[in-house]
Amino acid sequence: MSFDRFNLVKESFGKKALPFVAPEGRPSDYFGELVFDREKMHKYLDAKTLAALLDCIDNGRSLDLATADGVAAGMKTWALEHHVTHVTHWFQPLTDATAEKHDSLIDYDGKGGVIETFDGKSLVQQEPDASSFPNGGIRATFEARGYTAWDPTSPVYIMGDTLCIPTVFISYTGEALDYKAPLKKALKAVSDAAVDVCRLFDPKVSKVYSYLGWEQEYFLVDEDLYSARPDLMISGRTLMGHASSKNQQLEDHYFASIPSRVASFMRDLEVAGHRLGIPLKTRHNEVAPNQFELAPIYGETNLANDQNQIVMNLMNEIARRHGFVVLFHEKPFDGINGSGKHNNWSLGTDTGVQLLAPGKDAMGNLQFITFFVNVLAAVQRHNGLLKATIASATNAHRLGANEAPPAIISAFLGKTMTDVLHQLLESPSGTPIEIAGKKGKSLGIIEIPQIFVDNTDRNRTSPFAFTGNRFEFRAVGSSANCAGAMTTLNAAVAEQLREFKAALDENLAAGKSLEIAVMDTLKPIIASIIDVICFDGNGYSDEWQKEAARRGLDTETSVPEMFLQFTRPESVKMFTSTGVYTEKELQARNEVKWETYTKKVQIEARVMGRVATNHIIPAALEYKARLLREIRDAKEVFGNIGGCNTEVSLVSKISDLVADIQAKVDEMVLARKAANAITDEYEKATAYHAIAESLFAIRKPIDKLEEIVDNKLWPLPKYRELLFIS
Ligand code: ADP
Ligand code: MG
Repeated sequence: MSFDRFNLVKESFGKKALPFVAPEGRPSDYFGELVFDREKMHKYLDAKTLAALLDCIDNGRSLDLATADGVAAGMKTWALEHHVTHVTHWFQPLTDATAEKHDSLIDYDGKGGVIETFDGKSLVQQEPDASSFPNGGIRATFEARGYTAWDPTSPVYIMGDTLCIPTVFISYTGEALDYKAPLKKALKAVSDAAVDVCRLFDPKVSKVYSYLGWEQEYFLVDEDLYSARPDLMISGRTLMGHASSKNQQLEDHYFASIPSRVASFMRDLEVAGHRLGIPLKTRHNEVAPNQFELAPIYGETNLANDQNQIVMNLMNEIARRHGFVVLFHEKPFDGINGSGKHNNWSLGTDTGVQLLAPGKDAMGNLQFITFFVNVLAAVQRHNGLLKATIASATNAHRLGANEAPPAIISAFLGKTMTDVLHQLLESPSGTPIEIAGKKGKSLGIIEIPQIFVDNTDRNRTSPFAFTGNRFEFRAVGSSANCAGAMTTLNAAVAEQLREFKAALDENLAAGKSLEIAVMDTLKPIIASIIDVICFDGNGYSDEWQKEAARRGLDTETSVPEMFLQFTRPESVKMFTSTGVYTEKELQARNEVKWETYTKKVQIEARVMGRVATNHIIPAALEYKARLLREIRDAKEVFGNIGGCNTEVSLVSKISDLVADIQAKVDEMVLARKAANAITDEYEKATAYHAIAESLFAIRKPIDKLEEIVDNKLWPLPKYRELLFIS
């Protein structure tokens, strides 16, 4: 046998952890040393430049070229001290990866030598030759120019020898071609809308921040075993593989002690993250074998999302140093948990009030309830759209399977908040609610304890759960750019808050007090959501599927269909009225989404066909040939095959399974050919959706063969090997 799985497994199993080289000093000493943060700005910029830059960062003022030149000069000095030789505009195109094109800092000095240069113009704007990024037809190739523009609200950082400048990526006609530009617009929209509401409670509020705390789940697989699995390498997941006798049923992996090779990887990753100012905080084993999680302290959404993208890049690179490959795919292994990226999300004012946490007094609670209810209303109104924002070819395998939220968006409130909403609803209209506030007097607002949701009051089955001071959007996939989900959520909340404010203004104009006006505006909203989006039951149950459909929630399970949500009139109205996407952008993005879906399934289908034909069937036939030889030998020696019943039955099983695989592969190839001839991206993706489903059918006989073919002949590392070596 040319391919020796045993040696591969033995070598992988024997790998030792890399020794950890501790950095000098404590984390607080090196935290952020590779980031051009405020501390560096003070050190490297003159007073005028500093003031102008901070005005731009804090108040959204635009930056003039003289200031940009001053900033670039300061950055250059700092970068050269860190042996930087290159600079790049770092951006987030509509692919799974971030993009960068490095330029050396050197230039001719005009006197026969070279010098390092970096000026304001190259800081602020660049024109990468961007014709090869997904754009959904926004840029025809003859005007294939897009440009990247500096986002001063996310700090410049150093990665290796390169100064990285976070940028937005836009077409020359102004359409966004990336994740960051729309996210920034949504954050502005939600801030503006929320400030308008907050000012009724506190006129000093001038900005509302959206916060994101992501929890990144991932698998680690030994790189040698990974390289022996073409399906993992090419499509990011195993397309076949019989379940291991033991997987996660003993629940002995979650929070267990971290294997030393993994711990060593995590430490290197954390040091690298901390040096880049990323506040990595939590690390632990997840539920599935070889599955882990990492989470930072939450931060402002745009920055937190950039940091997530940086961390994913770091993980890929550092894992390889430790002989691992990171799997970000949402469902790399069938039958065990997949990976998500919970997006913990909240809003907070520049005066330090958390808007999704119970307030300190009755008015604070009223403000909290206002935001709480409006968030739920926004999620209800756009539940199908929110699902579309987390939908992808890869996340489709996770939703609704093993401990993952189903493909229905609902919100978990917990008992306390459910009771509060019911009480508010049942209190007579126009009269204060007779429940004492903290200050003793009846202000008409319910007293809500500050900490009331403990960790037991949690519902893992909910895609959107309230957890005491934030909502946890759990349906987001582990490989996703959080910006997709965060853009839609923040924009939808902005739209809802605006409409709420308009209705509230009418009630105020009618002469009602603020408390009564707020309550009167909230009540009909509460009545409309309490039995629709709010659901604390078991999201995994079959009854919920039926109940959700009865409630009018979106229960679509086909990803290409879900994308249609983006161009529904309600969605277009929401996105255009908040200034987040134009209709043209929404259409273009859908083209990209369908195209990406098609390509991913196409790649999987090709790998499936080839592995089945070149790996699985030959191994099965080899075993079959051996069995036939044994049967022939028996006949020769004993004159009959009476003693070979097992062999005979195995031969017939193998023949049947091989024939089944071949027939299904042939069918799938034909389906692909037909799908490839379709030109409309939506139709094509729909055809590929059926192909995606058919891959399960091919997998079944392959997994059965794995059970009966001689272990020595099996050509792919098995689940038990991929999942238990670390
Ligand atoms: P869990 O128990 O849900 O797995 P983790 O500690 O793994 O919790 O992650 C929770 C995440 O939520 C962290 O990133 C944390 O910083 C973040 N978080 C906490 N409070 C807020 C908040 N108010 N807004 C946004 N994110 C928050
Ligand atoms: Mg966690």
